[in-house]
Formats: sequence, C-alpha cells, structure tokens
Amino acid sequence: MNGLRVWLRQFAAKLSVAARGFMAGRYGTDRLNMAILCTGLVVSLLSVFSTSSGMTMVCFLLSYGLMIWAICRALSRNTYKRYQENRKFLQIFDRLKDRQHRYFDCPKCHQMVRVPRGKGKIAITCPRCREKFVKKT
Ligand SMILES: [Zn+2]
Repeated sequence: MNGLRVWLRQFAAKLSVAARGFMAGRYGTDRLNMAILCTGLVVSLLSVFSTSSGMTMVCFLLSYGLMIWAICRALSRNTYKRYQENRKFLQIFDRLKDRQHRYFDCPKCHQMVRVPRGKGKIAITCPRCREKFVKKT
C-alpha cells in the first residue's frame, strides 16, 4: 500500500516534469485564446438549439475549428507572432469598449489616432507625420 503511494507520487512528479518539458518554449494561453474558446463554446451551444440540420453541421464544424485553432495557438512555438495576435485583438477589444473616443487611421502613415467622440466635424493632425485630415466624430 505504501509502495503504491510512493509510486503514484513519483508518477505524478514525472508527469508534471514531462508536461513542463512539453510546454517549454510554447506559447500557452492568453486573452485571445480564451475568447476563441468561449466563442467555440457558444457556437457549439447554438448547434444544440438550432433546428435545421445544415445549421447544426455548420455550428458543429465551426466550434471544433475554433477549439482546434485555440489549441494550435497554445502549442505554438512562434511566441512572438502569437503575442502580436493577442495584442492586436486586445487593441480592437479596447476600441469597441471605448465609448468616449473614436479611432481613425491616418490616411498617409496609418498611425492610429484617437479623438474625443461627439465633437462634430473636426480637423485631425496626425501626431506622427503631421498630415491633416477632416473626420466626423
Ligand atoms: Zn500620419
């Protein structure tokens, strides 16, 4: 009995070392991955409630596709690229949440410019290249 317990403990320790070795140099999970997984979950729930079989099939495939995508991202060794994806996602997410400002791309250098919302038509000067453009806020 004691021997089994020792063996189990050693086995668990070996497993955790193996898991750490497996994940070493891999990206792991982030906010974007959580969002992908949640979307996958919602889509798979939709497939349960959808009445047409075509819709069920589409939701089923989409939910699996999303989950496989999330797993691939978590196991990816290209951490820089995954980090950039997550950063872009968070940027878009923050823009959607921000009701006080509007965001424009500079037509010349594509720098993102944030201006207060609800000021009517205003002339915006790009902080990077000094290009002036008029936008309705
Ligand atoms: Zn510019």
